[in-house]
Amino acid sequence: MTTLPDLLRRTERILLTGHENPDGDCLGAEVALFHLLRGLGKQPVIVNPDPLGRAYDFLCRHTPIGHARPDAPLPPFDAAVLLDCAHLARLGALGDRLRQSGKPIAVIDHHVGSDQGDGAVHFVDVKAAATGALVYRLFRLLEVPLAAAAAEGVFLSLVADTGWFRYSNADAEVFAITSELVAAGVDVSLVFDSLYRRNHPDSVVLLAEALQRTRLRCGGRLALAALDRAWMERAANADFDTDAVLDPLRSIAGVEVTALLKERFDGTVKASLRSRRDVDVQAITAGFGGGGHQKAAGATLRLPLAAAEAAIEAAVQQALAGLEARSS
Ligand code: 5GP
Ligand code: MN
Repeated sequence: MTTLPDLLRRTERILLTGHENPDGDCLGAEVALFHLLRGLGKQPVIVNPDPLGRAYDFLCRHTPIGHARPDAPLPPFDAAVLLDCAHLARLGALGDRLRQSGKPIAVIDHHVGSDQGDGAVHFVDVKAAATGALVYRLFRLLEVPLAAAAAEGVFLSLVADTGWFRYSNADAEVFAITSELVAAGVDVSLVFDSLYRRNHPDSVVLLAEALQRTRLRCGGRLALAALDRAWMERAANADFDTDAVLDPLRSIAGVEVTALLKERFDGTVKASLRSRRDVDVQAITAGFGGGGHQKAAGATLRLPLAAAEAAIEAAVQQALAGLEARSS
């Protein structure tokens, strides 16, 4: 069976992509892999399902990052690599186009179950803190030197998925790699300021409103914020990163699970769940057809916002009861 390094070595035109609304891990891993492939003399091209969020535009000073347009053909490619996800269904319409292309699909990912996704070849480790850490391992395996642009990509991945080294997945590998990345030229404060210090003036009002809508449920162990379409529209206009709402919710004593429910323009609801300790939010979102990690997971619910709120509350309540039953 072919391994991922073999596939990369013998393929010339390689399309790099990831999940819808690409986040820091996904984009950082793409950037790093782009430069790895350039280092191998290949022709990589990054084509995401969605445009780049404004907070990430600093990556464009060294890396071209494109997205699929429904009315334009995809650039020619011999194989595609999915980063930070393993199922073509996570790529919206682009997923169907990649499937129809009949070209080999490879997966580089750290999510539960990713070795059973749509990849014919995969490079998966669910213990890896970020997809970018896996791309870093590929640099070592393929013996390609790590230049500053690639190092910035890996760094972005690591800080995105470890919450700037604060979560329990910030392991020894993360800190060891980070030391090398900084030595390779990563400008830590440039990355931080680019991500978090260029917000639209409306962002503080949007944050305050979202926090005001927070409800404590399940006896104070679930903090839930439901954001309706009107709020989401204003957030989109201000390029507001809704992840910013999760952190203050997590700071409340006694809260085990935080949930952010976002009403999308197509009427579905995107749920993002975070667990402080033992609740397995991956198992909860899997019940709604989603997935992720034990402590960070998401799903799309085909329900009105209020019904989605009730469904998430019930599922969290059940998970908390299950934990109590096990520990008593
Ligand atoms: P977020 O809540 O920030 O969108 O995602 C948290 C984690 O869950 C990420 O690792 C993300 O890839 C995963 N995730 C989010 N939404 C979905 C989904 O609908 N399906 C799957 N399989 N994973 C998801
Ligand atoms: Mn990730």
